[in-house]
Amino acid sequence: MIINNVIDYHFELLQNEIALKYIINRKISLPIVQAFKLGAGTNNYDDWFSGYITIPIFIDNIIYTIIGRSYKPELKSHKCTPDISTRLFNHSAIYNPKYLILTEGIFDALSLIQSGYNAAAICGLSNLFDEDAKSIKSRDIYLMFDNDPNLSGRKGSKRVALSILEHLPDARISICKLPNLSEKVDVNYLLMHYHRYFREYISTSLNSAERFFVENIKKNENLSPPNYENDPDRIEVIIENYLQIEMKKRNKRHTQINCPLHENDNTPSFTVYHKTNSFYCFGCGQSGGPKRLRFLLDRKLGTK
Ligand SMILES: [Zn+2]
Repeated sequence: MIINNVIDYHFELLQNEIALKYIINRKISLPIVQAFKLGAGTNNYDDWFSGYITIPIFIDNIIYTIIGRSYKPELKSHKCTPDISTRLFNHSAIYNPKYLILTEGIFDALSLIQSGYNAAAICGLSNLFDEDAKSIKSRDIYLMFDNDPNLSGRKGSKRVALSILEHLPDARISICKLPNLSEKVDVNYLLMHYHRYFREYISTSLNSAERFFVENIKKNENLSPPNYENDPDRIEVIIENYLQIEMKKRNKRHTQINCPLHENDNTPSFTVYHKTNSFYCFGCGQSGGPKRLRFLLDRKLGTK
């Protein structure tokens, strides 16, 4: 079985200059190479991973499969072990109770891990494996997918967000936006080209991540500016009706008002996100869509 070759591949890599150079160019350090037992296929023509960096996927410390990433431009970019489906790379990250960053590519996750973040890679999957989604212990999940000009990264993150919410309806999922520096930016690209600013870019991306709500996609898939005026399911309309105030500045991305859900909110903490028709209060932490807001307002104001 190919997956038994992990250690042989690992030592092969340490002696294979071209493969090692590929990894060093990606600014992945030797301790990370050793910790994750990265390897390289041998030069034997019949080796399945010849010409590929081998990345073993461990599930609960047991080798599950190997993914290949070509370091020779003439080869297909990725290769999997035959007949074995992919799982999360750095799977054990899902057991961190605090937070989890999910990336698309393995080198993206490695770049983050090397800088001290808790990250795993979905390795090109569009849905998380049921078992993996169910086992996530992290309260906050950040999706840090490629900054793709044709939006496929954003669509991908929505699909993954939904597949997580199917199993963990309470998960707090945020979608990160990587800086717009060139055509297509991914996490590893930032590490390679903006090494000195890497942490700064990542923390900005985490801090400005947008909370994801299921209502997003159902209602606003076409992303055209919604007509607020008469839709009773608009957050703005619900607030106007309940509180008899006017929600201004509707052309902005979001509007902040004094929170109707907690007392003495003198700095407006209650944020309405127009595009996604959702709300989040930085003071009391309440969040959700129209249904949730009606429920909370009814309870608070005693109207039901
Ligand atoms: Zn509040």
